[in-house]
Amino acid sequence: MNPTNTISSSPSGASAQSVGLTTIHSHAVRETWLLAAIEAVRPMFLAKRHVIPDCQVSVGFASTGNRSGHIGQCWSTGSSAAKVNQIFISPALGDPFEVLDTLVHELIHAVDDCQHKHGKEFKKIALSLGLKGPMRSAGAGPDLIPKLQVLALQLGPYPHAQLQVPRKTVFRRNRPRAKCKTCGYQVPMLKKFLAFGPPICPQDKIEMQAIGDWEDA
Ligand SMILES: [Zn+2]
Ligand SMILES: [Zn+2]
Repeated sequence: MNPTNTISSSPSGASAQSVGLTTIHSHAVRETWLLAAIEAVRPMFLAKRHVIPDCQVSVGFASTGNRSGHIGQCWSTGSSAAKVNQIFISPALGDPFEVLDTLVHELIHAVDDCQHKHGKEFKKIALSLGLKGPMRSAGAGPDLIPKLQVLALQLGPYPHAQLQVPRKTVFRRNRPRAKCKTCGYQVPMLKKFLAFGPPICPQDKIEMQAIGDWEDA
């Protein structure tokens, strides 16, 4: 049996007795944890007759960039020279349960080989495994959560230091706009029309003022 403190410090609060936990693994690097996580959820998929294909999995940003807020991404076999699905888990995730939850979502894409995005084929697999929510961001539902919590415990600490990733770019551009000095009417300007000068106020029929950055036209 495991030391009680290891169990009680877990987010799920599950006890060694109730989960039948015998081993807490220790992983030196994130990838072996993630590969072990795939093996840990494989029986769950198999129980619903879904076969997880060979996958490569690592920590990395989604190709859609930080601002997309995407926390995981799966690539089709066709995208890989070795014809294996490749999954990336965002470095912004640090909690083992969250990582596992995200991994399960991405593994469903792998089962589907990313053929149907979040369409009905994806949804069918997701619902059978106990995921909930809008399919784009579907995560573990009430039945799946405790199972993943137990698996997260068994997998042991996730050897990754959560990265603070800003969701939005810090600087905000001072977008070019036009404003009527009489009534206050404002419109954003398209870059390609800046050379035309400020428009006429529809209300007061006078030329509006150029405000914001009109320089980088
Ligand atoms: Zn997805
Ligand atoms: Zn006006």
